[in-house]
Amino acid sequence: MRRKLAAGNWKMNGLAAAISQARAIANHPARDIDVLICPPATLLSAMASLPLATGGQDCHIETSGAHTGDISAQMLADVGATYTLTGHSERRTDHAESNATVNAKSAAAHAAGLTAVICIGETLAQRETNETLAVINTQLAGSIPTTATATNTVIAYEPVWAIGTGKIPTTAQILEVHSHIRAALNARFQDGDAMRILYGGSVKASNAAEIFAIADVDGALVGGASLTAADFTPIIDALASA
Ligand code: PEP
Repeated sequence: MRRKLAAGNWKMNGLAAAISQARAIANHPARDIDVLICPPATLLSAMASLPLATGGQDCHIETSGAHTGDISAQMLADVGATYTLTGHSERRTDHAESNATVNAKSAAAHAAGLTAVICIGETLAQRETNETLAVINTQLAGSIPTTATATNTVIAYEPVWAIGTGKIPTTAQILEVHSHIRAALNARFQDGDAMRILYGGSVKASNAAEIFAIADVDGALVGGASLTAADFTPIIDALASA
């Protein structure tokens, strides 16, 4: 049985006042699922004592050194994070991160004892030219390091065109990609069947139950709708009762 995961990606949003939202989310009775928030790194320390998991949004490949502005996986772990995102499409686009970079970052996360939530997904142009599964294959093969296990790795399928747009793939499209990812994980990893696969891209309270009913969807990576307890707790509830 895979334990379900409701993960929030706050991106570059949240000042100190936002900790009250994280506290309200943490205090929401989540029953038997994992709840994770990846806030800006500036809030990680303040959220460490809350009864939920916290994670970084990115980490550097190295543990320390002359990399101004970067944060290592070890530093994330040091302030209480237990997860980090790697390879989010905004990192791949804004910082030109390749699959090889995402692979190295995920391995660095593992070395620091963190669970890497490795993000993959096709662009609209790739979907429209029927390249989705080929892109997913390349990203899976290139971005997941050999250190990956079902304990330290979560895959987040996030179609780039669905992130922050309000557009959602059809149930059939999500099912197709998630079963494809499951088969690829099973082919490569002995414990591939136990690795969690999240869907991400415009998940909201109104569509969460439908998405969570799809086979091989083990939870969600949620951006905009994870910023407040009012928006995120109904998604947590939908996952807990899926
Ligand atoms: C994300 O940032 O990973 C994301 C899925 O964003 P949103 O839920 O806002 O589409």
